Amino acid sequence: MASIFTKIIQGEIPCEKIIETDSEIAFLDIMPSAAGHTLVVPKLAVKRLEDLPAKQAMSLMSTMQRVAVAVSTAFNGIDYNLILNNGINAGQEIEHVHFHILPRAKGSPGPFREHIQYAEGEMQEVGAKIRNCL
Ligand code: 5GP
Repeated sequence: MASIFTKIIQGEIPCEKIIETDSEIAFLDIMPSAAGHTLVVPKLAVKRLEDLPAKQAMSLMSTMQRVAVAVSTAFNGIDYNLILNNGINAGQEIEHVHFHILPRAKGSPGPFREHIQYAEGEMQEVGAKIRNCL
């Protein structure tokens, strides 16, 4: 069965898209741990990192670097975690490999410990702010 991310890639489900390349898409997480929490997803629907062909893994890393720098720049050089939950015991919920770019300010709670909710229109504003830094 196609994962929800495949549906996002195919445009069947909307997302706040940051960038789309031939082989990846990046968009804001719908249940963010912090403003700017972004997911970077290869278009190839595989479950685990090791299922990705090496060339696509390198492409994913390159897109992730570009997006991570944009996220950080958009929030005044904020620190961030790059997180891969690889497998159910590692916290993977969506069975389509993806990295989280998770902004971290001083004193922010650990990854996934708390969630924020964007105010109305805020997710679009954050998306635009990050896209402007690409
Ligand atoms: P995982 O636990 O698999 O590493 O993380 C999956 C992430 O996908 C979660 O942080 C969750 O909030 C996010 N997510 C799940 N469904 C959707 C969706 O429909 N749209 C977006 N933008 N994010 C989603």
